[in-house]
Amino acid sequence: MKFGGSSVESADAIKRVAGIVKSQAERNPVVVVSAMGKTTNKLLEMARLAVGQDKDYIHKLDELRRYHWEHGMHAVESSQLEQLTHILESHFSELSQLLHGLAILGELTPRSIDVISSYGERLSSLIVALAFNAQGLPATHIDSRDVLITDDRHTQANPDFKETYKRMKQVVGKAGKKNVVVMGGFIASTSKGQTTTLGRGGSDYSASIIGAGIGADEIQIWTDVDGMMTTDPRLIPHAIPIDSISFAEAAELAYFGAKVLHPATVRPAVEKDIAVVILNSRNPLAPGTRIIKDSVTSEHVVRAFACKRDITLVNIHSATMFMTHGFLRRVFEVFDRYQTSIDMVTTSEVNVSMTVENTEKLSQVKKELEKFADVEVEKKLAIVSIVGNSIGTTEGVAARIFKALETVNVRMISQGASLLNLSIVIAESDLEAAMKALHAEWFGK
Ligand code: ADP
Ligand code: ASP
Ligand code: MG
Repeated sequence: MKFGGSSVESADAIKRVAGIVKSQAERNPVVVVSAMGKTTNKLLEMARLAVGQDKDYIHKLDELRRYHWEHGMHAVESSQLEQLTHILESHFSELSQLLHGLAILGELTPRSIDVISSYGERLSSLIVALAFNAQGLPATHIDSRDVLITDDRHTQANPDFKETYKRMKQVVGKAGKKNVVVMGGFIASTSKGQTTTLGRGGSDYSASIIGAGIGADEIQIWTDVDGMMTTDPRLIPHAIPIDSISFAEAAELAYFGAKVLHPATVRPAVEKDIAVVILNSRNPLAPGTRIIKDSVTSEHVVRAFACKRDITLVNIHSATMFMTHGFLRRVFEVFDRYQTSIDMVTTSEVNVSMTVENTEKLSQVKKELEKFADVEVEKKLAIVSIVGNSIGTTEGVAARIFKALETVNVRMISQGASLLNLSIVIAESDLEAAMKALHAEWFGK
């Protein structure tokens, strides 16, 4: 049972979580929690302030300490206050020293980003374990960094599944027989004991790795909406919850921007054929969404829409590309060298266009590409993805999409790589109107 940041953002929210876990206690749940509320963002901001020698980080650190104290205090019993004080003091004094160190060094490496951002889940999991005990739910805390082992690709680490599953069975399986196990999501460590993280939103992924490792009946992702919906309800408030969806569709939606699920979450679940269920911790009786192996037919053909903002389009033009081979290899090699991943690609005889999300190293990529081609970069674009099992095999879907988008300039189209996804690139300024028009076309106003 994984509970996201907003599900553990306050003492009341944590008590609600205790109630939900209690109602399933006979199933021997393992609980995975995210950092409380927006803690991860705050930690990263403090790190940036500290390396920039901005003393405001000290004030922000104080605020974060107070926030954890205030809600922690109301979530535990008075007999546990000493324990809580000890947890907060030891973690915040370490954190303060680390930030001070960053201010002196003036450099923020991926390795130190991981150490700093790990404090969110380290604190939340300890506090939630205390709170469970206070609520009459016997709980044992396990530090995820002792069991979830990854490579050293800091901020985006990849699990060593064999070692992790071995440790899960030994450590989590045993402890879970007696008590509810509570662990922090997102955080892990290398085999040498260096702290790593699985990437932003990675607690979902932790939950599915843990679920697969212990052979869970089910992996429950508890969040702040009634399941996976026909689109982001923040964009379209009347978006509709989906009862049931295939692993493939859910993965595609997550990859193309449906933040409700980390894109890698379905992988361990598919492998062990464990259903993933998305549920709302503020509305626990809602049925939620079941993500399952089999494809379920959708009466609408389109299952849901996802979108990604702040997309950059790279147009590469080379007259020598015409009728020659090896050109794409050269282009992709440059992106590979600078670890910049590409979402969508289209080609014509002398042009290649591709979209990227992470533009950190784009100026270096551009410089390298310019050694053999003309390069143009277009910013402030968005990708809209239309996802459904039978999109690639049903007549008339494209006609309806482009009819709905008749007033929008479409910059790029991609379909076919995956039969269940049709993606288009448009200006970010057109995104809201485009999403509304598409959603209305299939699901009404
Ligand atoms: P958590 O902290 O629980 O992990 P997230 O903020 O990461 O929660 O994800 C939940 C949010 O995902 C929702 O509040 C919603 O705005 C957003 N979201 C985006 N696309 C979808 C979708 N198709 N269905 C449901 N929620 C979505
Ligand atoms: N706390 C981490 C983040 O904000 C992981 C998660 O919430 O899933 O990215
Ligand atoms: Mg999330």
